[in-house]
Amino acid sequence: MTCEHLAVAEPHSPRSRGCEECLKIGSGWVHLRLCLGCGHVGCCDSSPHRHATRHARAIGHPLIASFEPGERWAWCYVDEAMLDVPRWLEPHLR
Ligand SMILES: [Zn+2]
Ligand SMILES: [Zn+2]
Ligand SMILES: [Zn+2]
Repeated sequence: MTCEHLAVAEPHSPRSRGCEECLKIGSGWVHLRLCLGCGHVGCCDSSPHRHATRHARAIGHPLIASFEPGERWAWCYVDEAMLDVPRWLEPHLR
C-alpha cells in the first residue's frame, strides 16, 4: 500500500523541541510527534492533550513521524497506514 501524501511531502525543520501547545500551557506529554506538513511538534494520543492528532485534524496535515529519540516510523491519518521514514526526514529526527 502506498501513501500519496508522503510522495509529495517536503522537509520542514521541527518548530520546537517539545510539544508546542503543552509548552505554552505548562503541561506535560508522553511522546512527541512531528508534523511532516509544517514541522509542528505535538504530543501523542497517550498524552493528556493529544496535540499531534488535534493539529492534524484542525490544520489538515495528514502525516506525522515519531519525534522520539531513535524511533523511525511515520503515520498517515488519511490512509491510516504506518509508513517508513523517508531518507530526507532523517536529519530532522532525534
Ligand atoms: Zn497518506
Ligand atoms: Zn501537547
Ligand atoms: Zn502541520
